[in-house]
Order: sequence, then structure tokens, then C-alpha cells
Amino acid sequence: MRALGDLIVRRAAKMLTNCGDAPVFEGPAAVIIRDGRVAKVVSELDLRDELAGSSDAPELDAEGRAVIPGFVDAHTHLVFAGDRADEFAARLEGRRYEAGGIMRTVEATRAASLDDLVAGIVERAGRCLDGGTTTIEVKSGYGLETETERRCLEAIQRAGDLVEPELVATFLGAHLNPEPGYIDMLIEEMLPVCAPLASSCDAFCDVGALSVDESRRVLLVGKEHGLTPRLHAEELDHTGGAQLAAELGCASADHLVHASNEDAAALAAAGVVPVLLPATSFSLRSSYADARRFLDAGAEIALATDCNPGTSYTTSMPFVVALACSVYGLSATEAVRAATAGGAKALRRDDIGIVGPGARGDLVVIDGEDWVDLAYHPGMDTIAHAVKEGSIVR
Ligand SMILES: [Zn+2]
Repeated sequence: MRALGDLIVRRAAKMLTNCGDAPVFEGPAAVIIRDGRVAKVVSELDLRDELAGSSDAPELDAEGRAVIPGFVDAHTHLVFAGDRADEFAARLEGRRYEAGGIMRTVEATRAASLDDLVAGIVERAGRCLDGGTTTIEVKSGYGLETETERRCLEAIQRAGDLVEPELVATFLGAHLNPEPGYIDMLIEEMLPVCAPLASSCDAFCDVGALSVDESRRVLLVGKEHGLTPRLHAEELDHTGGAQLAAELGCASADHLVHASNEDAAALAAAGVVPVLLPATSFSLRSSYADARRFLDAGAEIALATDCNPGTSYTTSMPFVVALACSVYGLSATEAVRAATAGGAKALRRDDIGIVGPGARGDLVVIDGEDWVDLAYHPGMDTIAHAVKEGSIVR
């Protein structure tokens, strides 16, 4: 593993710190990173005094560009094998997506070796980093039997030692309920094997997947194994998942396309982070969640890619930010906050998604003077540099 770095990022036009009462630090600004952690954010004018002429740390000259925290992609399914481009093409001709499409990826994933799965994650995590993502939540869920679910989680762990972004593993054995007795098997056999390899437990609560009662059972037993609950909720229809997420105090409720005002209020009151996935709606050409509903209810929202081979095959957080601005009507600052601090909160982390003392030195230098360029130049490469724990990694 790479040693934790010392770095001084200089001459930022402005910086999104997501900290306290002044989340935007107007430049020219500098960040001092020591041993991989942010020591201080200062005005460029005060930098010499701060360093007292003694620092020989390497410097990264932002040359008047904007700086934001590294993106935290809090919802991905990066561990899979196979491809469903034909299904996407068929959908363009008018056929509807149903949760059962997952079974094609399950077949390919069951047939893949551990090395194949690791290689797939490494390739995709590299693309995430190209888009400025420094932390990635990765769900299992294309095994649906114990050995493959375990192998997928082991692949996430192994890939985590090979890639620059930090990978955070979630057990999603409850991605479908494919046959009678499956939930009992998941609880009795799969969870004890898989829980030591994950930090969260997720369930796909929706039409064609798990019911509210089945999801509750899985998440409660997951909790007994020390796993933080999170939930795919209200994506394809309104089935009560958002209220369940609030009831269980889930870290996040994800998708929420069909959530109501009452759902938004319940999530906000319970401190559940709505994780919104506009690239999925884009790929499915379906309805979008109402992001403003959750902000108005007082929730902190997150944005994520939902990267998966069926319904959202993108690793690009800049694309997600651009969509969130154009479709949800968020300001660029709201969208980037959701893609950084919001993602961190969904992962229940306070050391990422911000640029402040003690936080990890994970930064992105935007190729422009303002982060609005992420939305203003959709589909273009708007990432000039990425910094992970004080080392320039892109
Ligand atoms: Zn998902």
C-alpha cells in the first residue's frame, strides 16, 4: 500500500469544504495535508506564515481551479460478471425493466472465478477514480447463493488492496427472493458466512423483489450480525420501503422515485439519508425522484451512480451531478455537496466528504474555476486532478 502523503494544494480559486457555517471557502485558497489528513485550509495569502518557511512538502498548483472533496459514491454494484447491452437495446425499443433481469447477471457471476471478479472491480474502480471518486460503496447481490455471495465480498476486499479508491462492502444477498425458502436460507446460512466480510446489509424492497416484511426480517438479523441496515426503497413502485427504513433507522434509503411527502418527513426525522440515483432513471427512461421534497423535509441527501450492468452502467459522478442539476433542479453546490458530504453521511462516515482539519486528504481539482462546470460541461472530462490521502493519484 501507498504511504500516506504530505501535500500542499495551492492557488485554488475556491473550495467546497462542506464544513460548518462557511461550506464554501473563497480563494485564493490552499490546503495543507500531513500524513494523509487535512491539517488546515488557509487563504493563499496566509500560507507562507502557516508554513513558517519550513515545509518541504510537495505542492500541487491548482492554477486558479476549483477544489472539492473527493466524490463518495454511496451506492454501486461494481462486483459482477457479464453484460446486458442487449437488454438495454431491447428496452430502447419499448420493453419494460423488471427486477428479474438481475438473474442474467447472477448466472454470469456464479460462473466467474474470484480472479475474474477482482479484475472487474479493479477496472471499474479505476474508471470511478477517473471521475474523481475516492470512496466507493460496493454491494454483493449477484450470487444469491452462499458461496457466490461470499466470493463477491472477498473480491471486494481483495480489490480494495489494489485500487486507489477506498471500497466499502455491503451484503445484498436480499437482492431478490428467487425461490421459496430463500429468505430462511439467507438468514440461517448466508448471513453468518457473509457478515464478517461486509459493513452493511441491504435489501431490495420492491415489486418483484422483497416485501416490506421480508426486508425487515433480513435487516434485523443483519443488525444482530453487526451490519448497518440500508434499503433499496420505492424505486419501481410505492411499497412502503421508505417507512421501513425510517422504522429501522437505516443509514440510507435508496432510489425513492415513488416516495411521498410523508415518507420524506419520516426519513428526515429518523436521520435516514435519501440516496438518489438519477442515472438509473436516465438509463431506464423512467420517472425521476423529487430531490427537493427531501431537502424541504430537512434531510441531507446523497447522490450516487448505482453502477450496475442492468439499469445504470456508469461510474461517473460528474455525470450524476450534471443530471441532478438539470433534472432535479439542484444548484451545483447542492449537487456536489450531495455527491460528497451526503455520500459520506449515507456511509455514516465523518472523515470523508469534507475538507477540514482531521479529514482524509481526498480532494478533486475541477478543470475549471467553479464546480458548476461539472454540470455546465456534461459528458466532458472535468476532473483535472484527484488526490487520495495526500497523494496525487490522477
Ligand atoms: Zn442498487
